Amino acid sequence: MKAIVFEEHGGIGVLQHKDVPEPKISANEVLIKVRASGCNYNDIWARRGMPGMPVIMPHISGSDAAGEIVEVGSEVTNVKVGDEVIVHSSLSCGTCEACSRGDVFFCRQFKIWGFQTGPLDGGHAEYVKIPAFNAVPKPKNLSWGKAASMPLVLFTAWRMLVTRAKVKPGDLVLVWGAAGGLGTMAVQICRLHGAKAIAVANSDEKLEVARQLGAAHTINRSKQDVADEVKKITERRGVDIVFEHTGEATWETSLRSLRWGGTLVTCGATTGFEAKTDIRLLWNKQLNILGSHMANKAELLEALRFVESGDIKPVVLVALPLQEAGLAQQAMEDGNAIGKLVLTR
Ligand SMILES: [Zn+2]
Repeated sequence: MKAIVFEEHGGIGVLQHKDVPEPKISANEVLIKVRASGCNYNDIWARRGMPGMPVIMPHISGSDAAGEIVEVGSEVTNVKVGDEVIVHSSLSCGTCEACSRGDVFFCRQFKIWGFQTGPLDGGHAEYVKIPAFNAVPKPKNLSWGKAASMPLVLFTAWRMLVTRAKVKPGDLVLVWGAAGGLGTMAVQICRLHGAKAIAVANSDEKLEVARQLGAAHTINRSKQDVADEVKKITERRGVDIVFEHTGEATWETSLRSLRWGGTLVTCGATTGFEAKTDIRLLWNKQLNILGSHMANKAELLEALRFVESGDIKPVVLVALPLQEAGLAQQAMEDGNAIGKLVLTR
């Protein structure tokens, strides 16, 4: 089968579109013929190499995929050949104390499929194998591309806002990167919970997308000062929640934008990990800083109900053929993407 493979870290030049063996399934796994796979920042971290996180070579990235089941292992009962599925990319042992509680991300064997798995075990391929537990019915109202664009950003944003930050009606939520993959989900999850998203992006075009998704306020960070605008919008009170995933470049503004007793929730740091925190703000304003990482299957299934009802819509910038994975990653690194990029077969 064809796949996007790399054998060393580097720029997009290390990505090769080449033939590799088809995956072989075990008794509890399924084989999926992939129709589309979604691009995530994880693909870029894996390609560049991330200190402290070994990437298994040769590597196929891709933690989001949608396709049709073409083979099931002898023990599989929850899905069958012909089922249209998407991948739930949180892999864990399924039997330990943490897994039993639904805290799969605390499992000693927790892995992000298509990021920490391998060799040759990710979504940007013609066929993939996953545990049957991780095959989730594809929302019927979505195209293959839209279905593949969504699970990882959907469940990440859902866990951040709903489970961790406990977003509620009336909350003001500052959303960085509001037109990106995570941001478009966050804005819609806020709207769904009666909260008001303050969308931040670097162009009016992106902010128009955020507004259409339900953002109550917008800030163009290329020509407006985010902290000043937050003060104006909230009448100096500050926001209830900051939705953080950008890190170093935005962290201090995020903390200063919070109201007294407000909550910052973060799942990543695309601009760098070494953010500065004025600890006085933490105790004086009694702020909450919450980390969030991936999600469990229940959180994905809960969020998907709102996708099926049309309340949460995937936003796809463009669908490219599989061999254009490098172009897609370049667009994400350049910060020009609105919504998600997907690779079709
Ligand atoms: Zn476990």
